[in-house]
Amino acid sequence: MLYADVLLPFPLAGHFTYRVPEAMSKTLEPGMRVVVQFGTKKLYTGLVVALHENRPSVAVKDILDQFDTIPIVNQIQFDFWKWMAAYYLCTEGEVMNVALPPMMKMSSETIVSLNTETDLGNYQFDDAEYRILSILQQEGTVSVGKLTGGSSRLMRVVKKLIDKNAIVHQEQLETAFKPRFIKVYTLPVEYRQDPMRLHTLLDLLAKKAPKQAEVMNVILHYQNHIKESHEVVPRATILNEIKHAEGPLKTLTEKGYLLEGTQIVSRLPLSEPLASAGDVKLTDQQKQAFELILQQSPAMKPVLLHGITSSGKTEIYIKLIDETLKQGRQVLYLLPEIALTTQIISRLRHYFGNVVGVYHSRYGEAARAEVWNKVVAWNPPGSRPYTAHSIILGARSSLFLPYRNLGLIIVDEEHDSSYKQQDPNPRYHARDSAVYLATLHGARVVLGSATPSVESYFNAEQDKYTLVELTKRYGNVNLPRVEVADMRAFKKKEQFQGHFSRQLLEAIDESLKNREQVILFLNRRGFAHRVECPQCHWVPGCRHCDVTLIYHKHENNLRCHYCGYSEKVASQCPVCRHPMLSLVGFGTEKVEEDLQLIYPDARIERMDLDTTQRKDSFHRLISNFEKGKTDILTGTQMVTKGLDFENVSLVGILNADNMIFFPDFRAYERSYQLMAQVSGRAGRKNKRGKVIIQTHQPDHEVIRFVCNNDYPNMYARQMEERQSFSYPPFVRLVKISLKHKEQEVLDKASGVLAARLRKAFPRMVLGPEYPLVSRIQNMFIKEILIKLKRDQTLNDSKQTLLTVIHGFQKNRQHPPVKIVVDVDPQ
Ligand code: ADP
Ligand code: ZN
Ligand code: ZN
Repeated sequence: MLYADVLLPFPLAGHFTYRVPEAMSKTLEPGMRVVVQFGTKKLYTGLVVALHENRPSVAVKDILDQFDTIPIVNQIQFDFWKWMAAYYLCTEGEVMNVALPPMMKMSSETIVSLNTETDLGNYQFDDAEYRILSILQQEGTVSVGKLTGGSSRLMRVVKKLIDKNAIVHQEQLETAFKPRFIKVYTLPVEYRQDPMRLHTLLDLLAKKAPKQAEVMNVILHYQNHIKESHEVVPRATILNEIKHAEGPLKTLTEKGYLLEGTQIVSRLPLSEPLASAGDVKLTDQQKQAFELILQQSPAMKPVLLHGITSSGKTEIYIKLIDETLKQGRQVLYLLPEIALTTQIISRLRHYFGNVVGVYHSRYGEAARAEVWNKVVAWNPPGSRPYTAHSIILGARSSLFLPYRNLGLIIVDEEHDSSYKQQDPNPRYHARDSAVYLATLHGARVVLGSATPSVESYFNAEQDKYTLVELTKRYGNVNLPRVEVADMRAFKKKEQFQGHFSRQLLEAIDESLKNREQVILFLNRRGFAHRVECPQCHWVPGCRHCDVTLIYHKHENNLRCHYCGYSEKVASQCPVCRHPMLSLVGFGTEKVEEDLQLIYPDARIERMDLDTTQRKDSFHRLISNFEKGKTDILTGTQMVTKGLDFENVSLVGILNADNMIFFPDFRAYERSYQLMAQVSGRAGRKNKRGKVIIQTHQPDHEVIRFVCNNDYPNMYARQMEERQSFSYPPFVRLVKISLKHKEQEVLDKASGVLAARLRKAFPRMVLGPEYPLVSRIQNMFIKEILIKLKRDQTLNDSKQTLLTVIHGFQKNRQHPPVKIVVDVDPQ
């Protein structure tokens, strides 16, 4: 008798054992999906982790259906998930839940609808499939449980429809970046590799079915014309060339003379490489760094590539990628936010063409499943290039793709805090996870940054990482001159307009006069920071969260940046009835409006979360700026990241103080990184740029470090602080958040848990305390911080921690509270 241990997408620890029916015993393998019943009625797809003959002590249910004929998850992935669950104190089921594209983990609760992007007329459906499709047509969205009535046979029908792209998961929240699919055709490999066979076929068709022969010839002509390896031909191209080619295409496909497939149309046209990575000529310093990385020993120790902005880190990555592909291995290139990839994608496609795939969670479901399959389709040398991706460029979720042989992982902008997943579990850090994933593959890891995180730099000092440095900008372009605008002085002399000092305005004047571009950075979106009653100082706050609402002029409303709640601005103060409320503080929207008043002729654009919601808006903003259609770009963090423009002569940092004085132990490090990164956008090609930092604290050490581009001293000062107050990298933090609707319940429960933790971890527990925002979406929050030693006992400590928490949840004298454990919180 054969049994399977199955992993289910739940927060429950462990695997669940099911009996393997005779019929599946020959075909089932670990890594395949199966349908099982869990609980009384619900059906889930789970993953077979292991097969064995150990009869369980309790009665077990049968597996109801087998979904896959080849494994979709490999052993390395299982090992990776296991490590992640153990390190971040969550379950493998939770990791699986985040790792698999939603379309691959269907359950009774999954909500599906018709895929409006697929032309259903192109497919043939059987009766069962038709029945499901017509229910969806009538009802719009339906749960899989309702569609199938709990039948695993019908669940398989739903799965087939998902594979055909006919139906989609309703989790598709964001439509930004949604890719488009087109139909493409190519010849089967036996005809492509065997010219004789192809000729015989063409002769035969020419005699018997001339129209089909014509279609074949168009495809062949197209392929020969644009270099042979570009093997797929879009359907539209064929229909353009030949009238009424639909029928012949269908027949040819049915007979197996043509292969039909879908391809994601990127916003950037897919293309053959325009150049070879061999064409990249590294500078002496770059070459030295490149060789250091290649020859570093032990071979697979992570490398921290600390290169100042514009030093050409990307060129080194390109060379490393080329080396790795030559060895027949895969490459993962991680970026903190996919929005940034537009420029990098085109640079990589320039050298590597279509083997570059892009993956991130903002893509639609179908697209993600498609990329997943293209990584599964990867085969060491000899794989068909149009079906497989050997380079993946992606955000943190691309760590989970089914790689079989990664040779290189690049973590670009490794210091970026968006590498950390905040919610839900697993709350993993993609950089640290990448380092572990690399050990599983025996891959090289390169962490790159102009402003490394204190943690990584410390690891380099401790010789856990190898430090490789680039100290010169490419072409010896000078670093920008950084000036400080002392807002106190300007305010005293009334030399300011809106939120701009005279110093900054004069610099903007000059840039505009020279037809150069300006970037203005402010880490706060919205119009005014808040609305306030000038008489009694009442400030409207969010109903559900403990924060003030932010005024957005465009919609003329007040919005909560934590939960999205919005309301109209009151016409009078609800407390003292004062008839006029005033706007206090400022955000990017206000900056944009003020600028337009000061510079009525300048072309000004704003880039922040509000202006980049719509499809392609990010791409449009960047491309307008690149083409010189924008004079001034204002925005939040987004403008600081990795963008490379040639004509920017001035960068203004509008309010450095609200970064520096943010109450967090990483605030100094973060503000240094942000300011240094945004400064790096100035004067990149042929002219020295200028940066102006507006602040009320011109003598603050962080400002001084930025002015002198003094990373080493910033690091040294931070290390002193972290050591004396016991913060990372000297300790490991674990943050435990407790949440409940009632404050009293929360206070009591968190007090009890903290007391138990103190017993287990004497002198290592802080709190419970209310965080900066103590209520979000009607839930009060309290946090307990544990500082664990960085040594061998770390794993034991984590286990102890779990035991305490589980004990607390089990025998309690209070209503249940929600507990979130965050290892290495950011
Ligand atoms: P970083 O990522 O370190 O900020 P980039 O790799 O973006 O720097 O390089 C900055 C600019 O210099 C880019 O436009 C890049 O094409 C150019 N560049 C860097 N190194 C070279 C090189 N070896 N040959 C040609 N151009 C280079
Ligand atoms: Zn009032
Ligand atoms: Zn809110």
